[in-house]
Amino acid sequence: MEENIQCPNCGGYKVENKGDGSYSYKGCAIGAALLLAIPTFGFSLVLALLALFIPDQKPREDGSIEYLCELCGYKWFHTPGTPWPAINVRPELIREGSEKLKQEGEERRRRMRD
Ligand SMILES: [Zn+2]
Repeated sequence: MEENIQCPNCGGYKVENKGDGSYSYKGCAIGAALLLAIPTFGFSLVLALLALFIPDQKPREDGSIEYLCELCGYKWFHTPGTPWPAINVRPELIREGSEKLKQEGEERRRRMRD
């Protein structure tokens, strides 16, 4: 999560940076191959070799970054260097969202205790 990113939909600051759309399948597949290497050496060798031929997911052409607001669920794209979208501050959405996050956090703690 990044600091000081404000959601244009509710004005909250609990915004997650989902990145520019790029993704390395290669790193992922090689990681999986290493994990599998112990029980299934032959299979993971094939997987690692195959991984070398998988092209990585390229970042979006416009270089936009995807953001997701954890408070209101609003999702948007922003291209660095362009103006930030106009922000509507909606305290009720922020309040509802932080209530929800708090409940989810409590539930997670409860589940961990069980
Ligand atoms: Zn929001």
